Amino acid sequence: MTFKKILIANRGDVALRVLRTCRELNIQTVAIHSTADSEAMHVRLADETVCIGGPPSSDSYLNIPAIITAAQLVGADAIHPGVGFLSENADFAEIVEAHNIVFIGPKPEHIKCMGDKIQAKITAKELGIPLVPGSKSDVINIEGALIEAKKIGYPVLIKAASGGGGRGMKVAMSEDELESAFVAAKSEAKAAFGDDRVYMERYLQKPRHIEIQIIGDKFGNAVHLGERECSIQRRHQKVIEEAPSPVINQNVRDKIGKVASNAVAKMGYIGLGTIEFLYENDQFFFIEMNTRLQVEHPITEAITGIDLVKEQIMIASGQPISFRQNDIKFSGHAIECRINAEDPKTFIPSPGKITQFHSPCGLGIRIESCIYSGYVVPPYYDSLIVKLIVHASDRDQCILKLKQALKEIVIEPISTTIDLHKEIIETNVMKQGSYDIRWLENILLNTK
Ligand code: ADP
Repeated sequence: MTFKKILIANRGDVALRVLRTCRELNIQTVAIHSTADSEAMHVRLADETVCIGGPPSSDSYLNIPAIITAAQLVGADAIHPGVGFLSENADFAEIVEAHNIVFIGPKPEHIKCMGDKIQAKITAKELGIPLVPGSKSDVINIEGALIEAKKIGYPVLIKAASGGGGRGMKVAMSEDELESAFVAAKSEAKAAFGDDRVYMERYLQKPRHIEIQIIGDKFGNAVHLGERECSIQRRHQKVIEEAPSPVINQNVRDKIGKVASNAVAKMGYIGLGTIEFLYENDQFFFIEMNTRLQVEHPITEAITGIDLVKEQIMIASGQPISFRQNDIKFSGHAIECRINAEDPKTFIPSPGKITQFHSPCGLGIRIESCIYSGYVVPPYYDSLIVKLIVHASDRDQCILKLKQALKEIVIEPISTTIDLHKEIIETNVMKQGSYDIRWLENILLNTK
């Protein structure tokens, strides 16, 4: 079975990303949009469009009844949830399937299990994945937190069970900081996720964030597509990603890749996913699994030549993965810069009209974006407006190519983080690949 018509339950560059692959598969596309996005490029390029609500996400891109009604109205046989919004909402996946529409993503029980980070760690342990040392379940009160912290050893990190986007996470360097960190993490978790359950982990001092891309199909096949290094972060959010990691060799890649793909096979996981680790002193520690397409997936596509969205759609339609582990040939190096509509120093969002946009071009340059000259960046959504991906034969060449691309790109007159990327790419630390997850914030920006 292949799909005839897919409704894309997303907006921006992600909706366009999915739309392009649908075209290559000869599948009709339906864009949904809010009233704020009537002029958006995903709306202009789709075969059919349905306006589903007002500007706030809760009225539109998170409005499940409106999305289901739209899908029924147009006769879509599948829904692609994209990235963010409802992509990791198990209830949504269940409701979609209950209406005889295919949800392009894993089974609801896998989304649910990995969406609860405490359950995710229990499952990961059962699957033989190494964990960051920490509490085995949620920590209810400060007395429990004191006992756990003694077991784990300071510094400790208190994290939200329903966490995401780096929110609900607080560090206690020593016992005197524990109570305030615990209370703050709990209340931030409640406010952000409506769930105040927290758990605790050892706070690793100089780790790198390294994640493994995996795919599973309904025939029990599972493969990994190597790692992505995502250590250049601000507020626990990725800013630049690269593949392969500058500190991983083929031997280590094979080993951790096998751990990840074995786990996927054992779970019976179907679809794309990413297993995220912290890496310190040559050891991997599981932190979470994302059960969806990842923002930084193009760097994996660049070095493998595999269209991940195509695989995702084909697997959801019941096909097997189109290649085997040994067919994957890693080639060259890729880097992605996330360019946000934000001030590069204060990071205050800068929505507004773009009057001039010039895209960098050339061999190995890819832009994933929804902007154009005349586009108005709405104030309601994520400030990520352009993903600039460069691919070259090796890391040094890739950095040179990226420098040139950053010189060429023009987005005016709104503020963007292009200057921050230019600054990062000029540093010796970037050149040597010797950063860790705290380098950007603590050293380069000196904000902690
Ligand atoms: P979220 O789902 O909110 O993104 P993650 O668990 O994926 O949370 O962690 C996000 C980032 O927070 C990591 O990439 C890392 O920078 C930091 N982090 C998470 N756990 C730890 C830890 N135990 N020690 C140090 N840093 C951590």
